[in-house]
Amino acid sequence: MPANFKQLETKLIHAGEPMPHIQGSVSIPIFQSATFEHTEDTDYHNIKYLRLSNTPNHLALHQKLASLEDGDAAIVTGSGMAAISTTLLACLSVGDHLLAQDCLYGGTYGLLSQDFSELGLSFDFFDSSNPKSWKTMLRPNTKAIYVEAITNPLMQVTDLEAVTDFAKKNGLISIIDNTFTSPVNFRPLKWGFDLSIHSATKYLNGHSDITAGAVIGSRSLIKKISNKLDHFGGILDPHAAFLLHRGIKTLVLRVKAQNQSALQVAQFLQAHPAISIVNYPGLKNHPNYQLATHLFDGYGGMLSFELHSGIIGAKTFLENLVLPIQAPSLGGVESLITRPAFTTHCGLSKEDRQRIGISEDLIRFSVGIEATSDLIQDFEDALKGI
Ligand code: PLP
Repeated sequence: MPANFKQLETKLIHAGEPMPHIQGSVSIPIFQSATFEHTEDTDYHNIKYLRLSNTPNHLALHQKLASLEDGDAAIVTGSGMAAISTTLLACLSVGDHLLAQDCLYGGTYGLLSQDFSELGLSFDFFDSSNPKSWKTMLRPNTKAIYVEAITNPLMQVTDLEAVTDFAKKNGLISIIDNTFTSPVNFRPLKWGFDLSIHSATKYLNGHSDITAGAVIGSRSLIKKISNKLDHFGGILDPHAAFLLHRGIKTLVLRVKAQNQSALQVAQFLQAHPAISIVNYPGLKNHPNYQLATHLFDGYGGMLSFELHSGIIGAKTFLENLVLPIQAPSLGGVESLITRPAFTTHCGLSKEDRQRIGISEDLIRFSVGIEATSDLIQDFEDALKGI
């Protein structure tokens, strides 16, 4: 990578771009072709085929993504879950054990709790707020540790330095889902993580129009993961790769605006008499505020909250809102709002949701890039009389 590709803003635009530009095309063309012509003496490993994720669209994205988090290599996948499942299946073999943070995205929770035993794998959830307890969870067959940068939907932040220290001391592969923070707010490899995973469906693409995933790490680990991806086939199609490539260029602009806006919305909600609790790591009274300030360059665009009036109040509030769209997912240019107990986390048992602290009236908000004043006005109007 040229030495002058220093800052994230520059890397987002220029890293990985085909040089010279293909036919002078400033924007990378979509290579909508399953297979590619080769010569008689082409080595098998150099043959291009869409399922092998080696088309020009894929290669450009891999280089761009690796540069964003200072990894040696990266791989894109057809969804965030494809990135998570392929990574875990590449890092673990039959009989292996995984330590996983206790509050995870519902799909990841489902993969561990429903599919792992069928695959001959085991896992335990560890209490991420109590590093002293982690040692007791280790087994001779523990191979990896898995966390999320900011937990979904309660916005807790774990001591991520303690996680990588623990992994190094105990020979574990450390894996983080960096979706909520994005490379703008956190670059996990610099803090010692082996692998950083994204649901690129969210901030990286930023426009709620594709599903995609990404994994960034060392060349050897990414090679292992891409071999598994070649076999399992959960690849990203060229059109979605093009959209991700286009969307990612504005990542810094979007995420910086979302950081600012989310903080203002969180502060507004915290001061509102109808609101009982606000979960946002950028609020000074959030239990992980110091940790988040130490680790992150911004607190992100996600927050969750509860109303004093419980489920009835939550339902009325959501009906009253005009701007945020009621839908799961996050990280897009449009604000999205949802009740996780009925969408993203409905796969968890009621007991598990209660244990983790996800109540039925918890509301999760993904701030878009609308004017913050319009969003706050909308919230204020929607809360009237509740
Ligand atoms: N990781 C996190 C933190 C998520 O929020 C999600 C989806 O909401 C995923 C992973 C899964 O991503 P995808 O829907 O792209 O498969």
